[in-house]
Amino acid sequence: MPPPENKISPLKTPVTSLWGVGAERAAQLARLEIFTVEDLLLHRPKRYEDRRHFRKISELTKEEAFTARGKIVALGLKRFRGGSKSVFEIILDDGSARLHCRWWNLPFMENYFAMGDVVFVFGKLKETKPRTMDHPETEVIEGGEESFIHINRIAPVYPLTEGLPQRWLRGLIWRTLEKYETEIAEPTPLLDLKMFPTRANAFRMTHFPEELRDMEIARRRLALDEFVALQLQIQSRRKKFEARTKGFPCGGDNRLMKPFLSALGFILTEAQTKVLREIRQDMRGAYPMRRLLQGDVGSGKTAVAACSALMALESGFNVALMAPTEILAEQHWRNFASWFEPLGIKVELRTGSRKEEKSEVRSAKDKSTSNSHFPLPTSHLIIGTHALLAGGFALPNLGLVIIDEQHKFGVAQREQLVRKGNYPHLLVMTATPIPRTLGLTLYGDLDVSVIDELPGGRGKIKTFVRETEKLPKVLEFIREKLAAGRQAYVVYPRVEDSGAKELKAVTTELENLKKLLAPFRVGLLHGRLKPAEKENVMNDFRAKKVQGLLSTSLIEVGVDVPNATVMLIENAEAFGLAQLHQLRGRIGRGAHESFCILISDAKNAEARERLKILEETNDGFKIAEADLKLRGPGELLGRKQSGLPNFRFGILAEDLDLIRQAREIVSKF
Ligand code: ADP
Ligand code: MG
Repeated sequence: MPPPENKISPLKTPVTSLWGVGAERAAQLARLEIFTVEDLLLHRPKRYEDRRHFRKISELTKEEAFTARGKIVALGLKRFRGGSKSVFEIILDDGSARLHCRWWNLPFMENYFAMGDVVFVFGKLKETKPRTMDHPETEVIEGGEESFIHINRIAPVYPLTEGLPQRWLRGLIWRTLEKYETEIAEPTPLLDLKMFPTRANAFRMTHFPEELRDMEIARRRLALDEFVALQLQIQSRRKKFEARTKGFPCGGDNRLMKPFLSALGFILTEAQTKVLREIRQDMRGAYPMRRLLQGDVGSGKTAVAACSALMALESGFNVALMAPTEILAEQHWRNFASWFEPLGIKVELRTGSRKEEKSEVRSAKDKSTSNSHFPLPTSHLIIGTHALLAGGFALPNLGLVIIDEQHKFGVAQREQLVRKGNYPHLLVMTATPIPRTLGLTLYGDLDVSVIDELPGGRGKIKTFVRETEKLPKVLEFIREKLAAGRQAYVVYPRVEDSGAKELKAVTTELENLKKLLAPFRVGLLHGRLKPAEKENVMNDFRAKKVQGLLSTSLIEVGVDVPNATVMLIENAEAFGLAQLHQLRGRIGRGAHESFCILISDAKNAEARERLKILEETNDGFKIAEADLKLRGPGELLGRKQSGLPNFRFGILAEDLDLIRQAREIVSKF
């Protein structure tokens, strides 16, 4: 077990008890979310300055920021435009050359400098003749007792807030560390201290490293502590859950499954079958299932969801399926109704705009009386959006909850839906391949199944990145494909729901596209359409009444029209890689070869490199890893993702080994 927390750690002492911290300083520290000694020690330097070595001023460049040191040989404040604008300037000399440092419209800077002061300056040159920096970071070197904290060492440079001097904060942290170092306990008794510094040492190495490599050694140690804390939380959540609950027997008996599978029109892949075995095991088991199903776009998660639902339905329980958009809920409703109603299972739809169950749904009761094979007329499937979460809406006798495209929901919403029942089984599905590190942290309380194989008989997807000037050729290509009977998506580059102006822009775009693709017909899909309008557009597209579909990124999730084989995405650099991969997953669903054309004029090499990854691979995991490295977990998983821990030291994209160690350590507690 982890060490009992029976006495309050001295590190919880409020900063106000520290020498020199009065009300004003305390308020400034509070703005940095520093309230206790521990918070102060966890305040991580934003960078370090190696003040053992300096650049000569004559060697400073425009390209890279360096630290130099010089004496003030001139200074002055100039006001202009009748005093409303100003520039304050100091000139530093270090014997090699002179450096002009300027601050625009910050006249009070004058108070901080005096002739003859020796100043550290960090930045890069803006101009070389004369050598000039604008708004560099500076620190006046003062003599005295504590000067060893600030000079002739690798000095930490902290994030600050208005009015808080760097030097003062550094001094405070130094003294606090001196005083409290022996109180810094090891939170992890099982840690192999041959591999890591002690936590106390790690703090020292973070704030006052002796060597440049100390910072990384310390970071890893403190990151490990963060991962251990998180894993402990996950473990205890899971243990509590298991202690309290028994799973409903939802393994089923195949009597609906058999006719379903034989009417399905395809045979499940081995990967789908393997995953279903795992799910059945869980749904029969002692505890409610908590399972994350990962499968790249098009891997056939819907069929797995359907089979899982049938297991619960066969067992006499109801099932709820939640999807992130109305279009997707609608599509699921359509599919599931066509599959399940012949089996006598009622399928209801509940979205924001459609609170009533679908009237066309034939009542399962009528059927069951006429068909004695299906003796459980009450069990049914409810499909919906987040409208399912609404307070007044009851989901009785719930055996299984399925959440599609889980990454579009927060952890809180997932729990909210589960709480509608009495610990039902839970299956969450996602097509955003979750890199291992995230899987182990964010979804650490879920078991994971992976569909690692796509159904056969799919045409390949070829992806090309092109510049706007190639657009006429690309459109010509699209028209060829439309002439051959295929259909195309054109993705409008703006984010969903961004106001009336966007609406106008997308409507103009539609008129344009109609002209460019004539005589083929083009439909328009965006988030501000009324649900019935959305449904009509999708129906027209499915029925090939329109050949092209201009859409916002709304179609990103789930939409399944196999005859659509071309996708054109403009301003592709505006999207994340994982999102582009999702969008691209709308094509390549039929037997025909598919084409994804990414239009981008991104001048910067990085953006182009990024898009190249999509040209090179169709492997969602590789793409997600790259996206995680490039943009971080928040972006990868979407902004909605709550419950993503905020690490100070941990780096999810890099610390897989530490996360593994943390899990191992916690499993021994
Ligand atoms: P996703 O995993 O992205 O949700 P879907 O469930 O929408 O994928 O499936 C994509 C397409 O593949 C659908 O048209 C579906 O009918 C089809 N499909 C699913 N499983 C198989 C299979 N085993 N063999 C052939 N086609 C399949
Ligand atoms: Mg899907």
